Amino acid sequence: MTAGSARDVAAFDASLLANPATAALRAYDPGHDLPALRQRFGATIAELGSNENPLGPSPRALEAMRAALAESWRYPDPRGAALKAALAQHLGVAVERIALGNGSHELLMLLAQCFADPAHSIVFSQYGFAVFAIATAAAGARAIGVRALPRDHAQAPCGHDLGAIADAVRDDTRIVYLANPNNPTGTWFDDASLERFLRRVPGSVVVVVDEAYHEYVDAPGLGSALAFADRYPNLVVTRTFSKAYALAGLRVGYLVAHASVVAVLERLRESFNVNSIALAGAEAALADREHLARVRAFNRDERAWLLDALAARGYATLPSQANFLLVDLGRDATPFERRLFERGVIVRPMGGYGLAHAVRVSVGCRAANQRLLDALP
Ligand code: PMP
Repeated sequence: MTAGSARDVAAFDASLLANPATAALRAYDPGHDLPALRQRFGATIAELGSNENPLGPSPRALEAMRAALAESWRYPDPRGAALKAALAQHLGVAVERIALGNGSHELLMLLAQCFADPAHSIVFSQYGFAVFAIATAAAGARAIGVRALPRDHAQAPCGHDLGAIADAVRDDTRIVYLANPNNPTGTWFDDASLERFLRRVPGSVVVVVDEAYHEYVDAPGLGSALAFADRYPNLVVTRTFSKAYALAGLRVGYLVAHASVVAVLERLRESFNVNSIALAGAEAALADREHLARVRAFNRDERAWLLDALAARGYATLPSQANFLLVDLGRDATPFERRLFERGVIVRPMGGYGLAHAVRVSVGCRAANQRLLDALP
């Protein structure tokens, strides 16, 4: 074909033109078509597949978002200064050490884009959060998957094996991704184990600890990786407003890192990545400590109730510090998941994680959890 002539539209295939890293990727699978399912099942649907917070956001966040709507004709503050200042105060870190993201997902991707390329490897655990593998592939880096702890491990079945992860780090490793607690297993490692790990890993490796579910944790010895942020400049901690703050639809996350890490990320970050409604909502949500306390207490009690109710019916679950439970059926979970689905109870199949024998169930409100129990075979 010559330039300027009409093209063969049917034969055109842009995937042949995509860069190799992108060509090797598959698009995100959104799973169920939730808007269609809401129409089908109406108010009776029990949505337990997306780890959303059934208590909803702080009323103060809703009010701040309504007020911010009137200003939505303006571009948002590209620095997110007010939210960063609030976070800096809340966390006791300097503003220069905070970056904001369109969800923490964006930040996890940006880290790989900025710090790794095809000459590098990135290490993460088997059953680690799915975005770690996607971020690695998008950067064209080599993924080193590390076998998870065994299924019969007492404290963290299928969880991260920090010793093996440290062993897997090579000279060309630029990033290690850890999730604490991890999605989809719900498992966790304590602060002492993390410190041992940080001591073993060279300073040239960016250690990313994804704490998306941090606000839910209360296990002994489990605080936050932030406790080590002053001593390990290669440590990055990511968090989100999507879970305990119940602002998943707004897309706001943040990270805390050495100021020079943030400065690197800022070079590639889209200037207006966090919109003005989200900035206002997140800032107000952060200030409402009472609402967060209610969310924490609710999740702790309801998770325990659901776990007991499942156990009483003979279902094994992994220990969880998050707002979901991984139910281990010990056999292919597809018929189980389909049965619940047909009754309007939506849970997350785990085949994509290599956990075809399990489903992930979010801790919902009591009515939704009861619907799950009623729909069990
Ligand atoms: N990390 C983990 C472990 C998650 O489960 C999720 C959400 N599924 C995220 C990060 C990303 O959350 P968001 O982009 O909404 O902040």
